[in-house]
Amino acid sequence: MQDAVIFDPTTVDDDTRQQRDEVSEASSPLAALDAKQRREFNKLQKRLRRQVGNAIIDYGMIHEGDRVMVCLSGGKDSYTLLEILRNLQRNAPVNFSLVAVNLDQKQPGFPEHVLPEYLEGLGVEYYILERDTYSVVKEKTPEGKTTCALCSRLRRGSLYGFAEEIGATKVALGHHREDILETLFLNMFYGGSLKAMPPKLLSDDGKNIVIRPLAYCREADIAEFARLMEFPIIPCNLCGSQPNLQRQVVKEMLAEWERKHPGRLETMFKAVTNVAPSQLADRELFDFAGLEAKQARMQERRIDALNVSNDG
Ligand code: SF4
Repeated sequence: MQDAVIFDPTTVDDDTRQQRDEVSEASSPLAALDAKQRREFNKLQKRLRRQVGNAIIDYGMIHEGDRVMVCLSGGKDSYTLLEILRNLQRNAPVNFSLVAVNLDQKQPGFPEHVLPEYLEGLGVEYYILERDTYSVVKEKTPEGKTTCALCSRLRRGSLYGFAEEIGATKVALGHHREDILETLFLNMFYGGSLKAMPPKLLSDDGKNIVIRPLAYCREADIAEFARLMEFPIIPCNLCGSQPNLQRQVVKEMLAEWERKHPGRLETMFKAVTNVAPSQLADRELFDFAGLEAKQARMQERRIDALNVSNDG
């Protein structure tokens, strides 16, 4: 196995678990909310759980006996994903296990204690995988270029490989609705292709199935949930990288559309799930060359039907 620190909750005795649950309830940030705030929080939490549950059902993301590896970066999205999946795990009709994995990329200033403390507090099985992708990214990226693309590729490679090692049958990522829409427009504007981020995906080498249970969730809901839950957020830009400017531009464009036309993002997301290949222009997806043959078949059927009704 690669270098990794592991915590296995099954080795924690019952007394310790009970003490920890009592402490965590009393010290929960939610204890400070008044009745109205609590109601709002419950509504938000219910919505996120429902959307995650629906996405899991719609795309057949999790099956009986799955071992789901939740990739935990320390950002709001992955904390939310873990929290919602933990809840679903308790209530779902299928049995599945969760294991959280954080990739410590050796960025300067990365607070190594934050995630182990958090995860041990929850009693979730976890691994911290140590990989110095930071140095590789710094070395390989030309001065002034953004480092995020290579960094993400290396991160993905490390995590997918590790999933196989620990026998994870699914790799869960914290991408949400806005991530999917941003990717759609980025691919359209800069990549010349009509593709986004699928809720469920088989990796190119066929070894991993990647799932995105937050696919139906709004980023604003996740941000609010993370704020109220007071997750110990670790910023991604410890590496000193500039944010990905193209993504930022698309993000602002989408936010502006939503401000001017509330509901537009929801409609656009619906469009991603409702594709009509015959109304696009991809010859791989639709047999334009075969339309004449199809027309002839349809006309033949019509004549046959006409003959039958005249005979009758
Ligand atoms: S901000 Fe830094 S750590 Fe985050 S994806 Fe970009 S290069 Fe990687």
